[in-house]
Amino acid sequence: MPTRPPARPPLAPLAAAADLLWPGHCAGCARPGPPCCPSCARALRRGAVTALPDGTPVHGCAPHEGPARQVLLAVKERDRAEARPVLARALAHRLGELVPAGPVRLVPVPTRRASRRARGGDLVADLAARTAARARAAGRDAGVERCLGLVRAVRDQTDLDAAGRRANVHGAFALRGRAPTGACVVLDDVVTTTATAAEAVRALRAGGVRVAGVLTVTVAGVDGGTARPAWAAGPPGV
Ligand SMILES: [Zn+2]
Repeated sequence: MPTRPPARPPLAPLAAAADLLWPGHCAGCARPGPPCCPSCARALRRGAVTALPDGTPVHGCAPHEGPARQVLLAVKERDRAEARPVLARALAHRLGELVPAGPVRLVPVPTRRASRRARGGDLVADLAARTAARARAAGRDAGVERCLGLVRAVRDQTDLDAAGRRANVHGAFALRGRAPTGACVVLDDVVTTTATAAEAVRALRAGGVRVAGVLTVTVAGVDGGTARPAWAAGPPGV
């Protein structure tokens, strides 16, 4: 499927301007107040369920649109680190939907070195740690296994279509060290074409890891609840 131009809701430029002008405001809607207002926090609980082409479930906190998308972009691209706990709270909630009981280990998708440099660290690994901590605080046996590594260079996916993204990440990940025991969940910040998530799941299963599903902040191409995944909307083979 060709990459669709990203939706630019009217609150996007407002939120970006607010970052510069106001000391305390919502990362999602720019209202003065906490890093994420109750309304935008609710948007992050909307849920967005899809699946990889092989049927592996993908649970997102919300569709990649509106305030949920704005909060994620603020954290990723505008250094609104104080909103990270809001994302972790939403992720921990969705983790409970994806794997309701028993021990669970979160496996962050590896990020490119350039992304880590640009964002002052590994956002996905940080979200994994925060989410596992929240789950533990709620009584879960939860942890993080950084057992997925990049075995070759990949380029920024932003300008690639679905086929380009698949080719970009094909064979790019591999299990590092021993396979964790018990249920593992792949964690990413946004699932767009599912190419990256599918490659992460493939690499883990090839190493003998039991993958229960994929957890992400937002999912592109779904409109909440359970919807037709983005990859199914394109022509066959794309
Ligand atoms: Zn808000």
